[in-house]
Amino acid sequence: MRKLFGALAVAAAASLAGEARLPASAASAPVPPKLRLPATARPTAYEVDLTIIPEKETFSGAIDIDLELTEPTSLLWLNATELTVTEASLTEGKRRQTAQIVPGGDDFVGFGFRRSAAPGRARLHAVFSGKVSNTNTTGIFRQKAGEDWYAFTQFEAIDARRAFPCFDEPSDKVPWRLTLRVPKQDLAVSNAPVASEEPLAGDLKAVRFARTSPLPSYLVAFGVGPFDIVDAGRAGKNATPIRMIVPRGRGNEARYAAQTTGPLLEALEGYFGIPYPYAKLDNLVIPQTVRFGAMENAALVTYNETIELVKPEEETPLFRLRWASICAHETAHQWFGDLVTLAWWNDTWLNESFATWMGSKTLEKWKPEWDIPVRRVASRSETIEGDTLVSARKIRQPIESKGDIDNAFDDISYGKGSAVLSMFESWVGAEKFQKGVRRYLAAHAHGNATAEDFLSTLEAEGGTGLAKAFSTFLDQAGVPVLNLRLSCASGQAPSLLVSQRRLLPKGSPPAAAAVWSIPVCVRYGAGEWSERSCELLAAPEARWPLFSTRGCPAWALGNAGELGYYAAVYEGDLLGKLLAGGAPALTLPERVGVLQDLATLGNAGQVSWANALAIALEFAGDGNPHVVSAAVRIASGIDDHLVPDDRRVHYERFIRRYFGPRARQLGWNPKPGEDEETQLLRPTLLRFVARAGRDPELRAEARRLALAWLEDPKATGPDTRGTVLALAAEQGDRALFERYRPKAKSLSDRRDRNRLLWAIGRFHDPTLEREALQILLTDEFDIRESLTILWSALGHPPTREVAWQFFKANFDSLLSRMPQEMRATVPWVGRDFCDPEHRADVEDFFKERVRKLEGTQRPLAEALEAIDQCVALKADQQGAVSDFLSKY
Ligand SMILES: [Zn+2]
Repeated sequence: MRKLFGALAVAAAASLAGEARLPASAASAPVPPKLRLPATARPTAYEVDLTIIPEKETFSGAIDIDLELTEPTSLLWLNATELTVTEASLTEGKRRQTAQIVPGGDDFVGFGFRRSAAPGRARLHAVFSGKVSNTNTTGIFRQKAGEDWYAFTQFEAIDARRAFPCFDEPSDKVPWRLTLRVPKQDLAVSNAPVASEEPLAGDLKAVRFARTSPLPSYLVAFGVGPFDIVDAGRAGKNATPIRMIVPRGRGNEARYAAQTTGPLLEALEGYFGIPYPYAKLDNLVIPQTVRFGAMENAALVTYNETIELVKPEEETPLFRLRWASICAHETAHQWFGDLVTLAWWNDTWLNESFATWMGSKTLEKWKPEWDIPVRRVASRSETIEGDTLVSARKIRQPIESKGDIDNAFDDISYGKGSAVLSMFESWVGAEKFQKGVRRYLAAHAHGNATAEDFLSTLEAEGGTGLAKAFSTFLDQAGVPVLNLRLSCASGQAPSLLVSQRRLLPKGSPPAAAAVWSIPVCVRYGAGEWSERSCELLAAPEARWPLFSTRGCPAWALGNAGELGYYAAVYEGDLLGKLLAGGAPALTLPERVGVLQDLATLGNAGQVSWANALAIALEFAGDGNPHVVSAAVRIASGIDDHLVPDDRRVHYERFIRRYFGPRARQLGWNPKPGEDEETQLLRPTLLRFVARAGRDPELRAEARRLALAWLEDPKATGPDTRGTVLALAAEQGDRALFERYRPKAKSLSDRRDRNRLLWAIGRFHDPTLEREALQILLTDEFDIRESLTILWSALGHPPTREVAWQFFKANFDSLLSRMPQEMRATVPWVGRDFCDPEHRADVEDFFKERVRKLEGTQRPLAEALEAIDQCVALKADQQGAVSDFLSKY
């Protein structure tokens, strides 16, 4: 490494002014940018040549970047992380000069030029080497499946810089040409089809890929290894070839994925009105992923093995629903995210909200029997619960650090954003909304766009005021709660009094007052008649006359179709009237929405838990599985912290009485001829009645099935197997522990091994639990798998304390072993506690540690706030819960 001389350093500082705040002393050494690259140079094309040998823990390569310089440049910064750049040069026309490599800290590398490069075109060439990770799933990493090594990539959001020096920002969207030098017997796949292959010396070959359409660095991807290919035919307007790329010997497990990708692609094409934008679509399996399940790399989508592959005899409705939801989401990204890309990470929501919304919209049409509108309502309600934290992000949160980029991939971006899209789609009308989406995609195809671009296009179709109203949800944190009161004074037309405020649970820190512009749709009626009306509620409160000539309605629903992103609190006897007799006037999504919101509002301390429980038992025996699931969510909401010890037995009796009959009738294993909904209900209901309700019959059967499964893999169905194994562990002794542990080691099926490790974290005997946790400090299992033991033990009240003590005592060792990308969320391990002592303990433990760990401040704030909420809720509600349960 050569030191830079004075003039270059000054020029560097000057070119950075405005991009990075330079300390006064910086003139002596070039200071790398802080977060973003200076705008003085942009790429116009890349050529990348990498040597990837999956058996090796290092790789090497060269990159040529065509540049457009906007000003004289003597120091060019690029992104690079843990790369060793050994040589570089810059070519302008016919003049070539060697570049000096300037260290740039964790995220940058500088290239210094003795002769300042002129504005205009230039080409940078750099030679480098880097590491292939064994544990992380960021940058280039390798994994073993069977006896074979495979190499993969995951670059979103900012890890392309681990593979090559580049402009690692989404707005730099240009064509790429990749060449991979790989072992002769391996297959190499990337974003574009293979253009040519040629043998090289030393058992290698060079695979050259065609030039890609313009792509940002985060969507570049490849895979290398002895994969098998499953041909999934062609689909869509351009007869796009579709393939499943799977670890050797596992093609038969891709049956469902291969069969369904084409139809999903065609459904999306139909909606967008633009043919699938790339030359092919490959779905590549990654055996293990950390903190992501799938990734929408252009034309080379990657999926965690358990999402794409399943043994034919274990292909259950749950598997099919999960695959199709994720495949629809990732494939929707090929248009929304890939064809049109966000300009910067403050609009991560635009990518993720849209793909989530579009994925579920696609399934709704494609498989009506999956009741997608009902599932949407249930997940909206759970998102609202997370959004009650004052520390929750805004949908569009400014990005000030790398940690903010990482934090943006949360349920606010996915769940809240998609719920808000649904709400505005319903307000604008599905047809106009679709026109807006089509217009937006066509206008920005192969380019970048911002939230403003999207909203202004929608507004052009949907009418003025949309963008402004939408922004009240984008740029304000939190979720509105609507209070509704029906007024039917004699001599006056009936009216609805509606008021909005931010939903803040008891125990929340003070938060700024907020007013949203909410598209509110209400329904009301009596007997045979009902009416629907929609208004934009932009003020804190309003009185809406109900244009009904038929007198006072018997009931009123505050969220017609349950498409609004808000929770409704019904004042007086309005909720009782709404749900009377099983709420026959409501649609299924509406019935489920009202019940789901009740659980959310109960947890937020906005409705009495005693009332919520009384309602749950009314619906526990409902004929519809979604309604039963919603009732389970209410009844299980008090399990962890609100049931006093001396009422535990009463709580168990309550559960067995109302939920037990259906659970016992279903049994642990599927029965021939059952409908899909029933199969989907089974895991939730059985787990609740057997664990929280301690149903002796189901527990004994679980133990019997777990023992049988150790001998015969067909003894339990895949959807309940995890629960069965864990329940047996919860009642289990050393003998069972001694059978589980070697069994987990011997399993080749990753899903089953994960289920068993989950169960191994559930032994109530503290000696066994400590032994189980010790496994994390050994190499008995891959750490990414053995961490399951810790998460399992932390998630279960009887094992939580021992797990927490273990976590604290071994923090440094665990942190050094766990994948890097998991570290940012470690403070969440404390969020399930519910008492002031543990709150203090969690805060003390993490206070100093989060300073050293990028991105952990927000997760810690969320964890502490969740504990505060829980403590306050317990103080407020436990007495009433106790009184309610005393009747059972
Ligand atoms: Zn996504």
